[in-house]
Amino acid sequence: MGYSALSILKNGLRGNRHWQAAWRDPAPKPAYDVVIVGGGGHGLATAYYLARTFGLRKVAVLEKGWLGSGNIGRNTTIIRSNYLLPGNNPFYEFSMKLWEGLEQDFNYNAMVSQRGVLNLFHSDAQRDSYTRRGNAMRLHGVDAELLDAKAVREKLPFLGFDDARFPIKGGLLQPRGGTVRHDAVAWGYARGADALGVDVIQNCEVTAIRRRNGLVTGVETTRGFIGAGKLALATAGHSSATAAMADMVLPLESHVLQAFVTEGLKPFIDCVVTFGAGHFYVSQSDKGGLVFGGDIDGYNSYAQRGNLATVEHVAEAGVAMIPGLSRVRVLRSWGGVMDMSMDGSPIIDRTPIDNLFLNAGWCYGGFKATPASGYCFAHLIARGEPHETARAFRLDRFRRGLTIDEKGQGAQPNLH
Ligand SMILES: Cc1cc2nc3c(=O)[nH]c(=O)nc-3n(C[C@H](O)[C@H](O)[C@H](O)COP(=O)(O)OP(=O)(O)OC[C@H]3O[C@@H](n4cnc5c(N)ncnc54)[C@H](O)[C@@H]3O)c2cc1C
Repeated sequence: MGYSALSILKNGLRGNRHWQAAWRDPAPKPAYDVVIVGGGGHGLATAYYLARTFGLRKVAVLEKGWLGSGNIGRNTTIIRSNYLLPGNNPFYEFSMKLWEGLEQDFNYNAMVSQRGVLNLFHSDAQRDSYTRRGNAMRLHGVDAELLDAKAVREKLPFLGFDDARFPIKGGLLQPRGGTVRHDAVAWGYARGADALGVDVIQNCEVTAIRRRNGLVTGVETTRGFIGAGKLALATAGHSSATAAMADMVLPLESHVLQAFVTEGLKPFIDCVVTFGAGHFYVSQSDKGGLVFGGDIDGYNSYAQRGNLATVEHVAEAGVAMIPGLSRVRVLRSWGGVMDMSMDGSPIIDRTPIDNLFLNAGWCYGGFKATPASGYCFAHLIARGEPHETARAFRLDRFRRGLTIDEKGQGAQPNLH
């Protein structure tokens, strides 16, 4: 069923009794050409592009919980393509371009809002490094503007400029960055994939990977065995656990990341702002709540909740950037499990098992990558070759010394 102004009108006139379910609730079939493990943003996007762009229809997505129960429904919804390194920049810009046409493409309102992403800088050295990043972006055709302190003050007068602990010297703005309604992304891809014949199967946990003669034959699940011609892992924070089912040890650690939302306020932040002297980022939702987050909790965990020390740490950074934040009430906080890689960059690659494919290592930046990740993973699965923008995201890059360390912080996952 297509969504349009006309269908809203027609259904409204008929008492809204004839809307169909957005996607089916199919029972698992005995086998599929491609089985994707993980019904988060990346798994669903992969299924969608496999069917839509690469013509594969015998595809299933297996999700152990309900759609959106993982990080796709827990993130702070920020999208951007303001990257420095050649391994990252074209990929994230490809993702941004897909975001720009996504709602028309999958016929679903994902509330893509290109309200701008502003990274503040607080020292001359930081200005130099942000200028360099902005120049790299422009060389790749990505939009970037360097704002001085006066321009930032005109745009966001409520930031801590006077007597600030970390004086703001300016900011790097990507006007095309912004936010997207995260649940709607999962729902839109699920609905789009379902309409193309993909079976999206919820409450179906993969418990083992079966192999014969060095190839995957299928997966054991809580709903029985399902055969797979090709198996694709897109399990984000649980990537190490699912890869271990095929005796693989990944260069990943799982860490918790928390996010917060405040009571609704009148609109006053019209873009995404990030602090340069600590880890803090904030935007304002359409309901008026300030949505913000900061550092990961810093210890390995599969618990989808964080601890109070990090809440305090994030709040300190927030108040240092926006002093008035100290008077706002926080309504909720939650956590998600991040698949932190050793260089902070993702993996979209084949594995030593020929028909097993891996999509992982998204750290806390994987939401913005959802469309390109799905597209590039589908390309790899369907054609056996990496997409041109995702060639650098190889599993063996750590062994070969070809890491993609955007922040230049070294091989320590909790710093990325
Ligand atoms: C608090 C927070 C804030 C964030 N903010 C941002 C942001 O602003 N911008 C940004 O770009 N990124 C952000 N991220 C990161 C982003 O959300 C993730 O990198 C991305 O969502 C991960 O990909 P996914 O959507 O496929 O993951 P998920 O939604 O976690 O999908 C993985 C799925 O695999 C399923 N699964 C796991 N094991 C099995 C199994 N054995 N069998 C079947 N299914 C299984 C899980 O249930 C889960 O649904 C944030 C993350 C968090 C937690």
